[in-house]
Amino acid sequence: MRSIIMLLVILFGLLTQAYTLPVQNSTGVNEGKVRFKRKYSDEILEHDEMTSMDQILKVNHKLRALRGISIRDGDIAVSFVRSAINCPGNACLWPKSVDGFVYVPYILSPLYDDMDRITIETGMQDISSGTCVKFVPRTHEANFLDIQPRYGCWSFLGQTGGSQTLSLQTPGCMWSGIAAHEFMHALGFVHEQSRSDRDHYVTIVWKNIMPDHIHNFRKQVTNNLNSPYDYNSVMHYGRYAFSEDGGPTIIPKPDPYIPIGQRDGPSALDLHKINVLYNCGR
Ligand SMILES: [Zn+2]
Repeated sequence: MRSIIMLLVILFGLLTQAYTLPVQNSTGVNEGKVRFKRKYSDEILEHDEMTSMDQILKVNHKLRALRGISIRDGDIAVSFVRSAINCPGNACLWPKSVDGFVYVPYILSPLYDDMDRITIETGMQDISSGTCVKFVPRTHEANFLDIQPRYGCWSFLGQTGGSQTLSLQTPGCMWSGIAAHEFMHALGFVHEQSRSDRDHYVTIVWKNIMPDHIHNFRKQVTNNLNSPYDYNSVMHYGRYAFSEDGGPTIIPKPDPYIPIGQRDGPSALDLHKINVLYNCGR
């Protein structure tokens, strides 16, 4: 009897240990020892664990040069004739109206079906409901977003002037969190781990990054808007972004198990940053 109880205790202990192990095997502690042969986004995660950025990279990973533009950091379009990365004097922000709102006019391709439109408009609404940014169907405005189901999910950074394409391929990019992610690029935001101060908050594991994608981890000279680093930003890369062989490429610090990125839409801090950047409420 005693030995049966002992056996049960040991079994219980083993089970408890198994359940308390981290879900992912390669988040720093085991990193280097456990390497699964996994590609950077399409095979590594269960569908419901994927962040918006994981899904964007999955859709975009075959994306090559587009006519007249290149893609950097996975989904930010850069025009060969004009670089939007530098916005002196906030020239690439959308202007604020006298009523205090920032209106971002858009046209939506007729190629989208009703479900696509709802998804995209939900992404807009998730930003609008917490900020002074309002997406409005274009009437006559000179500067506007031209939302199209081109190949891939991508956007220019900030307002480029004139008609600017924002691509949300269907069905690959049809998550409201992805739409919100691309709209935040169009509002002028880069990825969270591109922040100038990111090295205080994450370790970039350079040796795990596919060599021809190292450039996607460059820091930017960013205005951090006196806001905390946001692991939960919809603009954050996933832990395995651009992984060479399945090892993590981004490890939060000091706690490597902090979840990073998500798929739901703008975080409270994302909305806060939009409000600060656009001086909402002032
Ligand atoms: Zn992006």
